[in-house]
Amino acid sequence: MAAGVVIAGAGQAGFQAAFSLRTEGYAGPITLVGEEAGLPYQRPPLSKGCLHGKQELDEIDLRPAAFYEKQNITLRMGERILAIDRDARRVYLADGEGLEYEYLLLATGASNRRLAGPGALYLRTRQEAAMLLTELEAAERLVVVGGGFIGLEVAAAATALERKVTVVEPQERLMQRAVGPIISEYFRAMHVGHGVEFVFGEGCTEIDDDGAVRLTNGAVLPADMVVAGIGVTPRAELAVAAGLSVANGIVVDEYLRTADERIYAIGDCASFPSRFAGGMARLESVQNAVDQARCFAEAVCGRPRPYDAVPWFWTDQFEAKLQMVGISQGFDCEVTRGDIGAGKFSVCYFREGRLIAIDSVNRPADHLAGRKLIAHGGTTVTPEQAADVEFDLKAAAQYLV
Ligand code: NAD
Repeated sequence: MAAGVVIAGAGQAGFQAAFSLRTEGYAGPITLVGEEAGLPYQRPPLSKGCLHGKQELDEIDLRPAAFYEKQNITLRMGERILAIDRDARRVYLADGEGLEYEYLLLATGASNRRLAGPGALYLRTRQEAAMLLTELEAAERLVVVGGGFIGLEVAAAATALERKVTVVEPQERLMQRAVGPIISEYFRAMHVGHGVEFVFGEGCTEIDDDGAVRLTNGAVLPADMVVAGIGVTPRAELAVAAGLSVANGIVVDEYLRTADERIYAIGDCASFPSRFAGGMARLESVQNAVDQARCFAEAVCGRPRPYDAVPWFWTDQFEAKLQMVGISQGFDCEVTRGDIGAGKFSVCYFREGRLIAIDSVNRPADHLAGRKLIAHGGTTVTPEQAADVEFDLKAAAQYLV
C-alpha cells in the first residue's frame, strides 16, 4: 500500500486535517491515530453545554463512524504513536507496528498542567468531563484552582447549578493570558454578582487528605470537590525524540512545516510565526486548529500558502458571551465601545495607531468586523472612531476582503 498521510492526534486539528485533505482532493491513504478511545469529538462543549446539562457527552462527536468509512479515513483510536523514524519515514505504534508516511502531521495537542499530589479533578477529555459531572452531583462546595477559561467556565456552570464556588487565582486578575484588565474586571464583578468568591494573589500548594485546599499564604479552604484549570503544556515529546526543534511547542515555519519537509505540526502543539503576535506564537483555540489544518491540507495537495489567519476565541460565562479577536498583548491604547453597565460592550486595543485586537461582550457585530479589520492590518480605523458607537465598524470592514 502506498504511504499516505499519518496524523498523530485526533483532536479538532487532527480531525480537520483528515477531512480537509479529502475536500482538497487528496486521494492517498489517511490514517488518524488518537490516544483516546471512541470517535474524535469537540472539546468546547465539555466546559460549556455538557456542564450545563444542555448537551450529552455522547452527542459531541465531530462526525459519526460512517463518515470515516465513506471518506476512506482509517481511524486508529485508543492507540498511540511512540516514535518517529525520520529516515525510513515511518512511525511506530505502542504495539511495535510501523506505519509508513508520505507526510506526517503532528497534531498532538497539549496536556493539562497538574498540581503536585492527588485530589483535584481536571477537564480536557470526555472521560474527565464525565468524572467531573458525577462528582458535581454530590458536591456542595467547590474550589476552582485557576481563574482562566476552564476555571471560570466551570465556576459559572457550577454556580448555575447552585453550588458554592471559590476561585483561587495567583495573578491579580482573571484570564490574564488572553484579555485586558477592563474585561478581567467585568468578569470578576459578574461572577461576584452571581455569588462566586475569589482569592487573588495566592496559588494552591496542595490538597489535604480531607480534600481541603491549602494556599500559599497558609490559609485552608474547605471543599467537597476541587477542579484545577491551571493551563497546559504542549505535547512535543515525539518531536523532541525525533530531533525536531521545540521551544514552547514544536517549531514550524509559515507553512507549518518543521525542519523536516515531510513533517508538519498544527494546533495547540505548534509554535509558528505570527504577524498578529509579532513573533512566534502557540495558540490554544478551535479556530487556530481548524485553519491550520486547512493550510496543511492545501500544502500536501500542492498548493502551499503561508498561514496567516487572524486568531479568534470565545468563552461563555453566565449571561456573557466573550469573543476575542487578535492578540491584545502589547497594546498602548485601549478604548471601550458600547455600554459596560448594560453588559454589551467591546474593548478595542491599539498599538502604534493600529487596531490589534477587540474583546467583545455580547456585541458579536464588533467581533465580526474586527476579524476583517485586524486581518487587514488594523489601519483603517482610529481609536476615536472605534470608541464611537455611531461609527459603523461593519461598514468600515465591508470592502476589505
Ligand atoms: P488558562 O491558561 O486559560 O488559565 C490558567 C489559569 O491558571 C491562569 O489564570 C493562571 O494564572 C492560573 N494558574 C496557574 N498556576 C496556578 C496555580 N498553581 N494555582 C492557581 N492558579 C494557577 O488555561 P485553562 O483555563 O487551564 O485552560 C486549559 C486549556 O483549555 C487552554 O488551552 C484553554 O485555551 C482551553 N480552553 C479554552 C476555552 C475557551 O477558549 N473558551 C475554554 C476552556 C478551555
